[in-house]
Amino acid sequence: MLGKFEDLFKKASEVGLKAYFVDADDIPIENRIALKCAYGCRGYGKRLSCPPNVISVEEFRKIIGEYNSALLLVDECDTSLVSDILEAWGEIRKDSFHKMLELEHEAFREGFTFAHLLRPGSCNECDVCNLKECIKPELRRFAPEAVGVNLQKAMEKAGLILEFCKPEKTVCVGILLLE
Ligand code: SF4
Repeated sequence: MLGKFEDLFKKASEVGLKAYFVDADDIPIENRIALKCAYGCRGYGKRLSCPPNVISVEEFRKIIGEYNSALLLVDECDTSLVSDILEAWGEIRKDSFHKMLELEHEAFREGFTFAHLLRPGSCNECDVCNLKECIKPELRRFAPEAVGVNLQKAMEKAGLILEFCKPEKTVCVGILLLE
């Protein structure tokens, strides 16, 4: 069943990512996720990859309905020796994003024309986001949570547990939509 995805699993492993197959139907989209962005996140509205600067939960719900398959991409980082995890988070997620983007490009080359990555965390390709117009549009991607994905539940569907408040292990998670 995973035949046509085999090369992508191999590539993921080569760049240091774990990949898990999920049906696109098993990625829950919930309106309540938007609350966490709009009320409580310091980054709300500060990046073009974050709400309200991305497509709405409702629009994304329609879009994901046009996909059948996806890979959950997991990048585990040992941060046991990191003293300030919030400071380190910028570099960690940027590094993970670039590995995952490589996989999106590979998927496109392999014929998944609509391959699209939902990246780990907000875009930080520029120190300060140009909120008027993205200056690196080829790199602009949004996170699953930004469009209402309940990542915790999506991971449970793949038999994984997303743990919070574990400073010794930072886990970056992305979703590669495939069609
Ligand atoms: S690439 Fe730069 S301008 Fe574009 S969304 Fe990311 S941080 Fe903002």
